[in-house]
Amino acid sequence: MKAVVFDNELKLVNDYKKPEPKEGEALVRVTLAGICNTDYEITKGYMGYVGILGHEAVGVVEDVNSSDKSLVGKRVVPEISYGCKKPDCDYCAEKLYRHCPERHTLGIFHKDGVFAQYFTMPTEVLFEVPENVPDEQAVFVEPLAAALEITEQLHIKPMDKVVVLGDGKLGLITALALNAENIDVTLVGKHQNKLDIAKNQGVKTSLLNDFKVEKKYEVVVEATGSVSGFETALALTKPRGVLVLKSTVAASKELNLAPIVIDEITVLGSRCGQFPPALRLLKSQKVDFSPLISATYPVDKAIEAFEKNKEKDTLKVLLKF
Ligand SMILES: [Zn+2]
Ligand SMILES: [Zn+2]
Repeated sequence: MKAVVFDNELKLVNDYKKPEPKEGEALVRVTLAGICNTDYEITKGYMGYVGILGHEAVGVVEDVNSSDKSLVGKRVVPEISYGCKKPDCDYCAEKLYRHCPERHTLGIFHKDGVFAQYFTMPTEVLFEVPENVPDEQAVFVEPLAAALEITEQLHIKPMDKVVVLGDGKLGLITALALNAENIDVTLVGKHQNKLDIAKNQGVKTSLLNDFKVEKKYEVVVEATGSVSGFETALALTKPRGVLVLKSTVAASKELNLAPIVIDEITVLGSRCGQFPPALRLLKSQKVDFSPLISATYPVDKAIEAFEKNKEKDTLKVLLKF
């Protein structure tokens, strides 16, 4: 089968061995997949991963290795990881599979990813896509679930004012998701064209230059991935407020953390989320991610697609199978 593989370099392999589902797993034929920044980071050596890339996909179940074949023929999205399920694993015992230290993560850790004609996953981490949700929306379920994770971790009160800082994919998806949950959210960024995507769907937006930086927001979501973004986010958080970190601020510049103490700010790390609420939101059609699609490439042009993904103004690049 065709597969996009990273092994010191990114390559398209035409004769990769088709996977066979283990007991309890399904074989899924991929129809559409999305390139994520994590995939790009892996091509720069992140996680030391070797194998098929990708963790955002929609596909159709072709076979299930179990007596229960009810998923066969269904359109599904895979959650990104599954736990070791060993009897002595405390995390798996509490169903915290996403924190299991020995978890398998699609295209990132100990598990071939979805940038291939087929992948396998345990059936319990495959979710059926509602009929009214096209592939082009369903392919956003993983970042959408990550955005909604904030609402699982934090009680945002009806009168709370929320700022999402950063108008890249992550910031846009987070702002659209919170707005659809009827939360008072303002998206702040540097690119009018990107802000307009959110604005057109009813989100309050502002260019950073026009935005008054003052400590008056109960919740601030950092989605810029830069140290200066972190500092601005901190300067926007009201005393006793919550600063949500959605991006891994990898830079090593010195940071002044004193305001966190002085203003008694809670810093909350937030990563991946549950799929069922994300699928429900997609089904409601209160969010539309199609304006975030910058380009769609056939799998044969996967290398070009990765090049496109690197370009500065690109939002989501999709791979069609
Ligand atoms: Zn992703
Ligand atoms: Zn485990």
